[in-house]
Amino acid sequence: QGGSCVADCLFCGIVKGEIPSEKVYEDDRVLAFKDINPVAPVHVLLIPKEHHSDVMEAADRDPAVLGHLFTVASKLAKELGLSEKGFRVVNNCGKDGGQTVFHLHFHLIGGRQLTWPPG
Ligand code: 5GP
Ligand code: ZN
Repeated sequence: QGGSCVADCLFCGIVKGEIPSEKVYEDDRVLAFKDINPVAPVHVLLIPKEHHSDVMEAADRDPAVLGHLFTVASKLAKELGLSEKGFRVVNNCGKDGGQTVFHLHFHLIGGRQLTWPPG
């Protein structure tokens, strides 16, 4: 179920302003806001304003937004002072991927030494 907004979707609620969030960036297609449960000093979520449940659905319906999300993540990383030391952009997809909110989002994480591989 794609489309502009979906009832009972948490992140559609944030896009609509029905659920409060700490926004760090917004344009016509994308919104970025602080993760409510940060795992690092910088932990921002980047979402398309249109509802796509995961990266595969977005790849089918609106592939251009994926490039835009990555571009915004890179620009934000720079603005937030992460360009020198580095950062990570992550998408969790599906159950085994650890996805818990089924509105596509990328995590922008930084501000500390990150470990690899993830669990
Ligand atoms: P996922 O596990 O799906 O990749 O990531 C979902 C992320 O959304 C988690 O990092 C979680 O902390 C964050 N999150 C869940 N509910 C809310 C909320 O209501 N507001 C904000 N800002 N982040 C949320
Ligand atoms: Zn949604």
